[in-house]
Amino acid sequence: MNAENTCIQIAVMVPLRRIFSYAPPSEGRLQPGMRVRVPFGKGSRVGIVLGYASCPPDVTLKPISQVLDAHPVLPSALQQLVQFGAAYYHHPIGDAWATALPTLLRQGRPLPEPAPQGYRLSIDEAQTVPRQPGKLQQALREHLSTHRVVRTTAIPKELRATLRQAVRRGWIEAVMEDTPPTQVAPSPHCLNTEQASAVTQLRMARGFNAWLLEGVTGSGKTEVYLEAIRPHLESGAQILILVPEIGLTPQLVERCQMRFGARRVAALHSAQSDGERLRIWAAAAAGRIQVIIGTRSAVFVPLPRLAMIVVDEEHDPSFKQQNGWHYSARDLAIQRASLENIPIVLGSATPSLESLHNAQKGRYRHLQLRQRATSADLPVMTIVPLRRENLQGGISTTLLTACKETLEAGNQVLLFLNRRGYAPAVLCHDCGHVVQCPRCSAPMTWHRRQERLRCHHCGHESRWPQACPACHSTALITAGQGTEQLEEVLRQRFPQTPIWRIDRDALHDRDSLATAVADIRQNRAAILVGTQMLAKGHHFPAVTLVGIINTDQGLFSADFRAPERLLQTVVQVAGRAGREERPGQVLLQTHLPEHPLLQSLARGDYRPPAEALLNERRAAGLPPFAALTLLRAEAHQRYRVDTFLSAACQCVPPALVEISGPLPSLMERRAGFERAELWIQAPNRTQMQKALNLWLPQLAGLSSARHVRWTLDVDPLLIT
Ligand code: ADP
Ligand code: ZN
Ligand code: ZN
Repeated sequence: MNAENTCIQIAVMVPLRRIFSYAPPSEGRLQPGMRVRVPFGKGSRVGIVLGYASCPPDVTLKPISQVLDAHPVLPSALQQLVQFGAAYYHHPIGDAWATALPTLLRQGRPLPEPAPQGYRLSIDEAQTVPRQPGKLQQALREHLSTHRVVRTTAIPKELRATLRQAVRRGWIEAVMEDTPPTQVAPSPHCLNTEQASAVTQLRMARGFNAWLLEGVTGSGKTEVYLEAIRPHLESGAQILILVPEIGLTPQLVERCQMRFGARRVAALHSAQSDGERLRIWAAAAAGRIQVIIGTRSAVFVPLPRLAMIVVDEEHDPSFKQQNGWHYSARDLAIQRASLENIPIVLGSATPSLESLHNAQKGRYRHLQLRQRATSADLPVMTIVPLRRENLQGGISTTLLTACKETLEAGNQVLLFLNRRGYAPAVLCHDCGHVVQCPRCSAPMTWHRRQERLRCHHCGHESRWPQACPACHSTALITAGQGTEQLEEVLRQRFPQTPIWRIDRDALHDRDSLATAVADIRQNRAAILVGTQMLAKGHHFPAVTLVGIINTDQGLFSADFRAPERLLQTVVQVAGRAGREERPGQVLLQTHLPEHPLLQSLARGDYRPPAEALLNERRAAGLPPFAALTLLRAEAHQRYRVDTFLSAACQCVPPALVEISGPLPSLMERRAGFERAELWIQAPNRTQMQKALNLWLPQLAGLSSARHVRWTLDVDPLLIT
């Protein structure tokens, strides 16, 4: 091969399904995973070197404009992970790389120099210090008077400039890393038999192995993770812990930092600034942080001494990215563990049906914690039939009475309602017309405090309509309850009791949630009203009564996963009750008291109803018993969507997959777009991949594809 027909292949960070070729630089050999800047269209783009290839001699190639890295930004295992993820989810490789890297690296910024941990006076300070030190220099010297390391943060701001100069002159030296303490404090608890057995098995794990840690709420799963990783930390290895959402992160981060020391542990999440994220990313990549606790994209953080991955609350749908690259961080974490040949633990009180199935098939090893770690018993669940109950703001007399008793005993009540706002709909009392979002096929939600109607799907807002758009009657009323209304009703009923509303309207940032949680933990009679945000991982010691206001919502959805999510949510919310000495009870309000899922659920265990749902999936040929992919398309005009999906149907490779559709999406209109989809089913993932690989080039080539936005969602989780 001579120089003329060698090209370099680049994953340019654009959402295009192809790889681009450029002329290699005249000097030096580029390694896969290095960033380059390349001319692209009229401008330039950042891209990733994939490798060298040969190309026909008559092609003229543009040269690379700039090589941005001296080394690959991701180690080879992670390069393979991005490659795998792009191929499996059929996403453009350049965009997959862009998603995997911190924003600043994606933009072409340099990898930061590692920031020093601290500073100390140089050994030969006597020779290098200025003979007549200035005031600031003198102050700095006094600050560092002993030869011990002083942490960067402990040096006053006004001395920073002097410090930089002193480092250049050599009388002060930067210290990159303080030697990590070898010992880590053990668990303050004496682990029970099941916990101890889980820890022993996890500690003995060598090489790739996936474990499902199924432990009832409050069974001490977190203690198991922490004890299982402790020896790794003592030997200097690194651990990745993936969590579903920011809301969960503070408690876990605090606990890890308290146990392992604040400097070994860092959180990575989207609420941080780009600069902060990059700094932590780089420190982890340099091996200076031992435990990374992060949300979805943390699955791509380089950790040179990675010894184990933990995925906490593995059932949580937020591990699946809903736009752009539709990857599942949990599934990619398993792939990463396999590529890096290390063990991975998936933990949950309510494992996903997929993971349960994998454990039953023997693909995952199954660890179980059946009892709560503290002396507390699991709460007792009771069904409250609503048919003949007198409802006030959605609360039955039975539930109100239980609230009153709980508060009088000095305990806390948690009421769960997965609907923000005052009322989920506004309708005409005369003709029944429901006020719709003009851009979506969904009703507008009334937010009384802000006096606005708001669409929860596209954000559209309007005022209370003056008259019914259909019949011009002015008799418009709200229908149904949201958390805002529930809070109002409770304030009237319990004027003396503090009431906390926990949802995205009341608390929009991490700090306000943390403050609320801290206040609530102060242990006095109070009512907490909240959405999904309340269900996740929080520990409220004084809550003894949990009320599920609207259980039935999950039973009527057309999403085949809705019953699974209902089950998980109820068990998780119920798990907030009676976590300490005081026993807990859970009241489930429903109009369908005989529903078999609720009956089974009310017996308290997650497993029997989960098994029943698995059997239903098996009978229906749905995941995890088959592979599913959705081809979604949207456009302003409905006929464009239909034309494209029908054409897509025509070119399906025969015999490999089964296609249903085109079907209108659950939400036919969203944000002004008409939406429809094809359901593609195959007996297994291998066959699905084979079909998609044959199908996709044809799809992309369809002329009707140019008039729609289409996405392929492999293993879809939320059907919207
Ligand atoms: P999970 O992650 O399963 O919800 P945690 O690990 O958060 O459970 O434990 C729940 C509570 O029980 C925590 O307050 C924890 O400190 C406590 N705990 C965990 N293990 C033990 C144990 N072996 N003995 C006593 N308390 C424990
Ligand atoms: Zn009307
Ligand atoms: Zn809308």
